[in-house]
Amino acid sequence: MECWHCERPAHAACRFCGRAVCKTHTQEMPYIIHTYRTASGSYKAIVVAGAVYCGVCRPQQDPVELKNME
Ligand SMILES: [Zn+2]
Ligand SMILES: [Zn+2]
Repeated sequence: MECWHCERPAHAACRFCGRAVCKTHTQEMPYIIHTYRTASGSYKAIVVAGAVYCGVCRPQQDPVELKNME
């Protein structure tokens, strides 16, 4: 696989969209692996800091409502 940005050999794949990136173009972003609700009713998330991010895709903060899914 080659880097999405420069077409040199890639070292990693974006955790969010799967694009391949080389070391130069790899960015980091916190990645939420799990969310849960505590007994007191607040929401918490288990987050991996520094997950590989391609710098191109746009991970959305909130779940997206799907339309036209008949
Ligand atoms: Zn690159
Ligand atoms: Zn990506």
